[in-house]
Amino acid sequence: MTKKICIFPGSFDPITTGHVDLVKRALPLFDKIIVAVGINTQKKYLFPIEQRMDWLKKVFAEDKKVQIDQYEGLTAHYCQKVGAHYILRGCRHAADFDYEKTISQLNHIVGGGLETLVLIAQPQYSHISSTIVREIIKGGGDASPFIPAMVKIKQ
Ligand code: ADP
Repeated sequence: MTKKICIFPGSFDPITTGHVDLVKRALPLFDKIIVAVGINTQKKYLFPIEQRMDWLKKVFAEDKKVQIDQYEGLTAHYCQKVGAHYILRGCRHAADFDYEKTISQLNHIVGGGLETLVLIAQPQYSHISSTIVREIIKGGGDASPFIPAMVKIKQ
C-alpha cells in the first residue's frame, strides 16, 4: 500500500507551540509527516535556516513518523519530489482562511490533485504566531510561553 506522506511547509521562524500542536493532531492520519522549511530568497528571516532546522529536529526527535527537511521553489514541486500527496496547514482566523484557501486551490492544480488538510487552531493556540514571537524577542521580552521548551533563544 502506498504510504500516506504529508508535508507541513512553513517558515518556522521560529517554531511555536501552535505548530507543534498541528503536527501532533495530524500524526494519526499519516504514515509520515515531513516538516519542511521553505526557503524564499526574497524573504528576510530573523533566525538562520540552520537554527530553525536544528530546533525542529530537537522538538520532533521523539516522533518517529516526523522528518525535518528544507526546500527551495514551489511547495507543489517539493511534494512531487518526495512523493507526498497531502499538505498540512493551520487556520487561526479569517485572514488565515482566505490565504490558505487560495494556496490550497492553487496547489491542487499545480500539484496535480495535491490535497491540503487545514486544521483549525485550538483556542489555546489561536493567538500564537511566529510574527508575535519575533516581536517579543526583538523587544527583549520573554517568548517562552509560546515556544517549545527545547527552543532556547539567546537574548
Ligand atoms: P508561513 O510563512 O508559510 O505562513 P508559518 O511558519 O508562519 O509559515 O506557518 C506555517 C503554518 O502553520 C501556516 O498554515 C499557519 O497558519 C500555521 N500556524 C502558525 N501558527 C499557528 C497556530 N498557533 N495554530 C495553528 N496553526 C498555526
